[in-house]
Amino acid sequence: MVRSFDILTFIVIFASQAAAVFKIEQCSSNDWNRLDKAQREAQSVASKALDALNSGKIDNNEATFHGAYDPVFQPGARDQVKKVFERIGEIATSQDYIVTFYCTNDHVKLETHDASGEQWYDTAFINSGTENNGIAIPAVIDQDPAEKRLGKKPGDSESFTVLGWAPDAPKKDFSNQAHIFIENGAINPPNDSPFDTRWLYEIVDQGFARGKSMIDNIRGPTTTVLHELVHVAGGLISPNSRGANIDDGPSGVVYTWLYCFMANTQQEARDMGLKTEKYADCYAMFAQACYLQIKKTNNPPTCWNTGKVFPDTLESVPADQPVPQKRSTVSEARARWHARSLA
Ligand SMILES: [Zn+2]
Repeated sequence: MVRSFDILTFIVIFASQAAAVFKIEQCSSNDWNRLDKAQREAQSVASKALDALNSGKIDNNEATFHGAYDPVFQPGARDQVKKVFERIGEIATSQDYIVTFYCTNDHVKLETHDASGEQWYDTAFINSGTENNGIAIPAVIDQDPAEKRLGKKPGDSESFTVLGWAPDAPKKDFSNQAHIFIENGAINPPNDSPFDTRWLYEIVDQGFARGKSMIDNIRGPTTTVLHELVHVAGGLISPNSRGANIDDGPSGVVYTWLYCFMANTQQEARDMGLKTEKYADCYAMFAQACYLQIKKTNNPPTCWNTGKVFPDTLESVPADQPVPQKRSTVSEARARWHARSLA
């Protein structure tokens, strides 16, 4: 007994040390705790996805794996997809590559550093090169032209990632760092969110919220953190330029399982050269499908082939059919009225 207790203690200590490689800055203690929880859950989700990619099975079931993988990725992309989930595990424990999460965008500032004039810069990177080593080095942020015209500051309405690069190695090099800003609505989703924003383990344990058994209905803090970690894990096209291997697709619009499914399966999209292994959300949606195996008696697999499942049987709903919704019973309606009259 004592022996197994010792092992458990060791595992707990090891887990907390591993997670400490990620830094979390500029957060209230509430936000810090939620973000830490989200990054830990994102690690578990990524790890389940990697296991699935290695074994070709989810919970020992081959059909379930293909239900999660085939709609969003081509068979030939599997090694590349695997590399990204491996890398997510590596950066969580690497001492050489530092990922910092931010809850506020105070470190993003409007500055002028070249002939392009005033632009938004991430001012929190530190040069690890030989010139001015240890001193802050400004990193320009690629802003969506429409957002720029509206005068929006990066982070005012969306989460984003900035990968460090080596603009002039060995003098100027901060390619050992990445910054992830998570906007407040993603850390603390509003009560009227159209999504199920619970922790994913709660959904696994407790089942779907009423009327929300599509994978696209589920997007809480963990989904956002995982999406951003995929950008980091994808890395740079070249160390001395700031182009990322994994972005959000043409015009930055490849979000949701449905969009990834269309980009992966429609001939027109393939002809346009869309490749889902280049888009962060497709990884997040695949991993979420691997992880969201809802607990039920007799453990039926949750089949994500069509992106939507029957909440009771966990079988996939045919693509051309809407997810059936149970009608509210009279007693539920009464309970709601009761709750309202008390409010
Ligand atoms: Zn993205």
